[in-house]
Amino acid sequence: MPEGPSLVIFKEEIMPFKGKKVLTASGDVKTMDPGLLKGKKIKDIKTWGKHLLLIFSDDLTVRIHFLMFGSFTIDSKKDRPARLHLGFAGKRELNFYTCSIQLIEQPLDEAYDWTADIMNPDWDTKAALRKIKTIPEELVCDVLLDQELFAGVGNIIKNEILYRTGIDPNSKTGKIPAAKLKALVKDAVDFAFLFLKYRKVHMLTKHLQVHDKKVCPKHETPLEKGHPGKKKRRSFWCKTCQKLYG
Ligand SMILES: [Zn+2]
Repeated sequence: MPEGPSLVIFKEEIMPFKGKKVLTASGDVKTMDPGLLKGKKIKDIKTWGKHLLLIFSDDLTVRIHFLMFGSFTIDSKKDRPARLHLGFAGKRELNFYTCSIQLIEQPLDEAYDWTADIMNPDWDTKAALRKIKTIPEELVCDVLLDQELFAGVGNIIKNEILYRTGIDPNSKTGKIPAAKLKALVKDAVDFAFLFLKYRKVHMLTKHLQVHDKKVCPKHETPLEKGHPGKKKRRSFWCKTCQKLYG
């Protein structure tokens, strides 16, 4: 599943379509009528967490979530029907596949809390810490994947920042010392921008320390592997480097 930094890259790739008018719109999308978009201009393109947002007007935005296997093509088609196809002048086209598409028919500032998006300049570390304080019994591995708190954080970012800050994924947020928790929240943003930098040059995997790895880079001992928490996503951690709180 693409994480926040990958969405920023998708946005940059699609940016040349900003200001362009949709001439044809079709697809097997069930949640909206693609015909609605015909004749409308893409006014802007934004991301919020793992959502790509094609903004047509103040109260008309197409929200694309790539789920596990979603993808898109620019000026070409795959050998299967697109969920949403948008055609533009000069035979230009955008096609989205295997994704969830929703219409947002209200101003985006009402639909989204921008301060909760790790890639957004309005991200608010203090607000995130305040929200975590209200759920002291939750495991940190679940809290980091909560898109209401950390929009854009996915499993790779979760595993890497827990290792970088020395916190066992099974720790309860209420038991983690305040300074440690603050370091973790700050690192979510710091690491997300490193992720963006490395992914742009196709060097991300090389720079991961524990996600999908076998041994701790520091100790060269086997990493723990499991599916902790309610969300049961794959976790990789070092029992020596990462402390269990609570
Ligand atoms: Zn270690």
